[in-house]
Amino acid sequence: MILFKKSEDLRKCLADKKNKGGKTGFVPTMGALHEGHISLIEACRSQTDLCICSIFVNPAQFNDRKDFEKYPISLEMDIEMLAKAGTDLVFVPSIHEIYPKGDTGLETYNLGSLETTLEGRYRPGHFQGVCQVMNRLLDIVRPEYLFMGQKDFQQCLVVKRLIRLLHLAIEFQTVPTMRDKDGLALSSRNRRLTTEQRRFAPAIFQALTYIRDTLIPGDTGPVIETARQILDAAHFKTDYISISNAVDLEPVHVFDGKVKTLALIAAFQGEVRLIDNMLLN
Ligand code: AMP
Repeated sequence: MILFKKSEDLRKCLADKKNKGGKTGFVPTMGALHEGHISLIEACRSQTDLCICSIFVNPAQFNDRKDFEKYPISLEMDIEMLAKAGTDLVFVPSIHEIYPKGDTGLETYNLGSLETTLEGRYRPGHFQGVCQVMNRLLDIVRPEYLFMGQKDFQQCLVVKRLIRLLHLAIEFQTVPTMRDKDGLALSSRNRRLTTEQRRFAPAIFQALTYIRDTLIPGDTGPVIETARQILDAAHFKTDYISISNAVDLEPVHVFDGKVKTLALIAAFQGEVRLIDNMLLN
């Protein structure tokens, strides 16, 4: 595995490799890696000939300064995990490398209602920040395949939209969510949970499972209400529980069982904000 800090060096190496042919795949991350990230690397390796991973904690996508400052960092361990997983190239840029002109006055993108619903509503500016970093990273790496996790379902929709807006020829692959044995979705933020909070955290998975197993065609309100009680009982402070259509995340008030639908949850366990989702049909 070769590690790059400068985009120019990575670009040169990639130009060389691409001349020799083969498909390139890219897995962007913010580090503090876990098995969920590694499943993306594995998906990438199985479908491409060159697997590139980036580690960059993107300040532009944090609407909450404290969240940014407390974001876990474990670079040495990350690099070890990536090497073991068979990653070919890893890019660990500085903030200056990604935002050479600073992070103000950056381009903004028309994300439609994705920007104002669910994560967009509770984290204003977050998805513009995601697009800013993705635009820059995709311009440097120019992959043919891009691998991202279903755990961040709305982010997947936003990045697919960005790819369309920029007319890029990239095949987007959504990788299923990896979970702990008790159902908690793996997340870098789980490291910030206390032992007690970690014990309560699987309630998100339980609430999602409850929705999936109970929902029948008709009014979605009562199922959401019980899911809320499951989260309340586990001391979660809930931002949202939504049953939404999988195309634009518009809320589904009356479920018909036909349109592709998912349940999405964002909730705080103490200071730690967790998100998860589950397809319902
Ligand atoms: P992050 O480092 O949190 O920005 O995540 C980097 C990528 O890993 C994103 O595409 C996430 O959706 C994906 N990811 C995060 N957690 C999981 C998980 N538990 N299972 C699968 N993919 C994940």
